[in-house]
Amino acid sequence: MYRDGARKSIWQEEVKRYSSKADFQQLYDVIIVGGGITGISTALKLQQAGKKCILLEAANMGFGTTGGTTAHLNDFFDTTYTEAIKDFGLSNAKLFAEVGKEAIEMIETNIKNFTINCDFAKKAAYLFALNKDQQKKLKDIVEGASKVGHEMKYVNEIPFPIPFEEAVIIPDQGQFHPIKYCRGLGDVFLSLGGIIQEDCLCESHDEHEDFVMLKTSKGEVKAKYLVYATHIPPGLNVLHFTNAAYRSYAIAFSLKDNHYSWELGYDLNEPYHYYRIQEINGENLLIAGGEDHKTGHEENTGECFSRLENYVRQHFNVETAYYSWSSQYYEPVDGFPYIGKLPGSNGKIFTATGFRGNGMIFGTISSQILTDLIILGKSKYEEIFSPSRIKPIAGFSNFVKEGSEVVFDFMKDKLFTKKIISLSEIKSGEAKVIQYEGESYALYKETNGKVHLVKSTCPHALCEVRWNSAELSWDCPCHGSRFNVNGKMLTGPTVKGLQKIEENPEP
Ligand SMILES: Cc1cc2nc3c(=O)[nH]c(=O)nc-3n(C[C@H](O)[C@H](O)[C@H](O)COP(=O)(O)OP(=O)(O)OC[C@H]3O[C@@H](n4cnc5c(N)ncnc54)[C@H](O)[C@@H]3O)c2cc1C
Repeated sequence: MYRDGARKSIWQEEVKRYSSKADFQQLYDVIIVGGGITGISTALKLQQAGKKCILLEAANMGFGTTGGTTAHLNDFFDTTYTEAIKDFGLSNAKLFAEVGKEAIEMIETNIKNFTINCDFAKKAAYLFALNKDQQKKLKDIVEGASKVGHEMKYVNEIPFPIPFEEAVIIPDQGQFHPIKYCRGLGDVFLSLGGIIQEDCLCESHDEHEDFVMLKTSKGEVKAKYLVYATHIPPGLNVLHFTNAAYRSYAIAFSLKDNHYSWELGYDLNEPYHYYRIQEINGENLLIAGGEDHKTGHEENTGECFSRLENYVRQHFNVETAYYSWSSQYYEPVDGFPYIGKLPGSNGKIFTATGFRGNGMIFGTISSQILTDLIILGKSKYEEIFSPSRIKPIAGFSNFVKEGSEVVFDFMKDKLFTKKIISLSEIKSGEAKVIQYEGESYALYKETNGKVHLVKSTCPHALCEVRWNSAELSWDCPCHGSRFNVNGKMLTGPTVKGLQKIEENPEP
């Protein structure tokens, strides 16, 4: 398995394993945990700045969302500039607008300087309104963008076969192959003396005055600084209450008529659909995404793929769906990412999370922000992205809503499991959470009859997991931790698996 799900993403063929054997005896300047775009970009930037770095990854490079992304490079975000102005003020919104341009430039510079062959291309993006309500939304987006100096122009045509009311074009956006890019950065990092250790789960840390001791599945390792580039930091942290985990779905299709739309496209549905083309093995494929929902909150995740496919087939002359996969992202309660000192740390531990659907950009800018914070002790983005910020006005109602939903899920699941049916009612190919002799279990029966039984309580914050039929995983509806059918951790913030009971209990 190369990704945190049972389905294969379009990027997966390019995942390669690193073979370096790490020396855990020496004192490192910085340990970076997480082998996605955030971790590898940050590790490289710090190593380039003369720091001795080690990157630790629980599975393999690209195992997390970087291996399940769609890799559009945008300088407009899921949090619109209008929302940013309203909640953070015009000058902070202008600073927010600098992030996209700066990050795309950083990516382009890396590609050029290190000659990374990663299918990078500059593209125009089209935002289009499908009805009158969306037209209002579009107007709002364009007005906010113009206040921060961001160019969006109304156009009469879009290069997508989708009927629309109104549309804008946004120049100078981009796309690339995220795994080829990260591999390119990884190779440069190694050539500069950086160390990558895969299959290394980081379990907990101890922060001392002069160093941080990190406990991992491969032993303890010590550094002056620690960066959790794990998409959401592991362990228990306030960031698990200010970020909510969501799933998004993507399918890559070939088209019968070869009428590919070469630019990037986004409608304004909620959740929105997004489009781009990627060439894989000499064939062009249309990647369409959407159908997002809160992790663990969709009864039948397989239906999300059916809905997405049916929608795309209505508009495009689809031939074959070659790849379909889902992946996870984090919604911050006030709309801005959290990049900086880990809340509760004395100043030696950093993190980056809450990227929404813009993590290629925020992951890249995190490398600059975290390097500046570690080396210079400051960054121009320090305040607006501070993980410890509390904005009682911005997103406060969302904060309360997300927080209370978590408590509700917890209680509802505890009650739900009490009513659960007996073990013998499980059919082949089915999964259920069952109550048996006062304990709650997550049970999955393969089509060949093999049963996988684990305790259903997520070890992170003791919520009950739910079945994700699309990726054959147990997903926690509270903070997004995910596990395979044998209970092995796939996605944090948990650092432990579900307790495994036995391979094949008697029926
Ligand atoms: C379907 C989908 C489409 C998207 N499309 C776009 C897009 O078009 N453009 C865009 O900008 N953004 C997009 N995003 C968002 C973007 O892909 C993510 O924000 C980004 O990939 C996150 O990168 P990361 O490095 O922070 O995290 P990840 O890629 O998730 O990497 C984190 C790594 O940390 C490892 N890890 C976790 N816990 C531990 C531990 N305890 N010990 C050791 N290792 C650990 C994991 O195994 C993982 O490999 C999309 C997201 C989704 C879900």
